[in-house]
Amino acid sequence: KRVGYALVGLGHLTLEELLPAFGECKKSKPVALVSGSPEKLKKVAQQYGIKPESCYSYQDYDKLKDNPEVQVIYIVLPNSMHAEYTIRGAQAGKHILCEKPMANSSQECQAMIDACKKANRKLMIAYRIQYEPYNREVRKMLRSNKFGPVKYIQAQNSQSSANPDHWRHKKALAGGGALPDIGLYCLNTSRFLLGTEPTEVSAYMHSTPGNPLFKEVEELMSWQMRFPGGITVDSITHYNTHDSRFYRVSAERGWMHLNNAYAYQGQQLQTSHAEGPAKLQNQITIPAKNQFAAEMDHFSECVMEDKKPHTPGEEGLQDQRIMEAIYQSAREGRPVKLSTVAGEDVFR
Ligand code: NAD
Repeated sequence: KRVGYALVGLGHLTLEELLPAFGECKKSKPVALVSGSPEKLKKVAQQYGIKPESCYSYQDYDKLKDNPEVQVIYIVLPNSMHAEYTIRGAQAGKHILCEKPMANSSQECQAMIDACKKANRKLMIAYRIQYEPYNREVRKMLRSNKFGPVKYIQAQNSQSSANPDHWRHKKALAGGGALPDIGLYCLNTSRFLLGTEPTEVSAYMHSTPGNPLFKEVEELMSWQMRFPGGITVDSITHYNTHDSRFYRVSAERGWMHLNNAYAYQGQQLQTSHAEGPAKLQNQITIPAKNQFAAEMDHFSECVMEDKKPHTPGEEGLQDQRIMEAIYQSAREGRPVKLSTVAGEDVFR
């Protein structure tokens, strides 16, 4: 028995990653599509065996309500559309899996949580890294005593982009630039690894003057987060460099370095630790697993067994609150304190 998904938005992520990943799922299947392009709908539906009557335009989105095969709506639209489509999807009686970043403001995130709660539907944010085996292994290793207490993390997620007309470069659609798109991985993964929440952030932001790519959204965000116990996380994200996606966790008696940490595949984990007077280095290999399939199957299991997802709406809201503090710090040129989260224990 598999949970039926409606995919909303047939862009890069849906076509290149999500639809192929269903082939590796054990509990999830695509049963409906929503798109603005009738040609694309026809072609993709044929390719994945989806019935013509289960293909919808954006105008017909609310009609998903009458399709009993659809249990989950997976929202894969530009960031500014996540809130509206989540709220309407919950009102149509469906569980919602929503892409990251959850939305463009913490008010929108709260409204999404409230709407799903009111409709008694589940809400999960698609933080695929939390379902990816290497990142999970690092989290597990940190909880063993082998490396001793964590002292700091250095993280970076950078890439280049070339099309200033793409929605990612429009503030109203994207919400911001490198930070909410790719820097978010450094932020969310650090919280995942440490299992605690930052108490203060300080940030520096830059966009090259005159570059049309960065007229509306930031090119660089560099920020530091303070966590309880004197732990710091230093992160950098850039929209105009060669791809670079890694983090290193430094602990008292060792370190873990994950290369390609936030990539779709190709993670490489190196560790070093002290054993008596010796300092040992290891390359750790784990069997590959499609992280999108793992993420979707997790949500399907939550739907089938009536469990709260591991990355619920509250997780997206907390990241949004922290990103708002990061922007504030960068704008004002001073550290910004974060209040403790109400209901933090709901998702930790
Ligand atoms: P994309 O531009 O390739 O696709 C977006 C889709 O939305 C397109 O099919 C487009 O036609 C449609 N759309 C509907 N209304 C639109 C409008 N008003 N303006 C522009 N497009 C509109 O983008 P993508 O890379 O697939 O990203 C979609 C979402 O998925 C984003 O929220 C992004 O952050 C997220 N994403 C997540 C990952 C991940 O690894 N989890 C990777 C890529 C993207």
